[in-house]
Amino acid sequence: MSILVVGSVAFDSIESPAGRAERCLGGAATHFALAASFFTKVRVIAVVGEDFTDKEESVLTRRGIDTSGIEHAPGKSFFWSGAYGSNLNEAQTRATELNVFQNFSPKIPAAYQNSEYLFLANIDPVLQADVRAKMPNVRMVCGDTMNYWINGHSENLAKVLPGLDALLINDTEVKMLGKDDNLVRAARKVIELGPKSLIVKHGEYGASAFFSERSFPGHGDSLAIPFRSPSMPLADVVDPTGAGDSFAGGFFGYIASQPELTPAVFKKALFYGGVMGSFAVERFGTERIAQLDRNEIEERFETLRQLSHLD
Ligand code: AMP
Repeated sequence: MSILVVGSVAFDSIESPAGRAERCLGGAATHFALAASFFTKVRVIAVVGEDFTDKEESVLTRRGIDTSGIEHAPGKSFFWSGAYGSNLNEAQTRATELNVFQNFSPKIPAAYQNSEYLFLANIDPVLQADVRAKMPNVRMVCGDTMNYWINGHSENLAKVLPGLDALLINDTEVKMLGKDDNLVRAARKVIELGPKSLIVKHGEYGASAFFSERSFPGHGDSLAIPFRSPSMPLADVVDPTGAGDSFAGGFFGYIASQPELTPAVFKKALFYGGVMGSFAVERFGTERIAQLDRNEIEERFETLRQLSHLD
């Protein structure tokens, strides 16, 4: 099974209480692809500039990720710069430079056409809608977005949401998109905008899934209340950048590795999301996930299971 991901592949400059990192490899599609690659085959659609070299590409290819859909264009790669204060759940964006993404028109290579799963990572919703339309036969589509697109591009975002099986955003974004300060009411309003299910990321506090009658037809009553999965309590958090995308990669990667999508698989996938998000924050950029091995993932999954288990 393969997941096709479209999203930013970028350079990030990050400052956190643990220090700073200049122009490290980042981007929503990068973090997602690396995390998902532990579970399933991953193919990437993005555009990069002349500053993106074999060194950066090899971080992805070493994990077996298919990068043949990454277009190389004249100019500079997407650049994001952000800082974290004592609240590590909230990044202060200092700069967003779209650069080569400004004129990007995604092309799906022939070898990608048979992808069963599609992840629309954080990027201009116009590009998300374009790729969604070019992949009509996928089994499941999940997507992400952020305040940058919710505030300034809501009409375009509204066209993407009805095409999603699950939308994954953080709690602040849910309240912004649902225009309500109460999470439960905001979540209901977001589901009315079109996604079948909503996954709310709470940073260090875990994630919640809100379901609708369209999530799993026939399972209505058992999914009437949301499901909550934990995060790993960590003593040292270095860089939260990419935690959300790594969460999405663990979640969707696990789903793609399973023969069938059931409510039980969906819930277990949320735990794998928590596992991958927790590794992402332990070092700057992609450093930790790029060095990870599968045993560490299973060990941490067991820890999360014990952490939240009640007889
Ligand atoms: P997160 O998982 O939410 O922390 O996502 C972090 C990644 O999103 C960073 O590596 C950035 O390069 C990327 N990013 C930041 N702003 C944007 C944006 N407006 N569009 C697409 N990607 C972005």
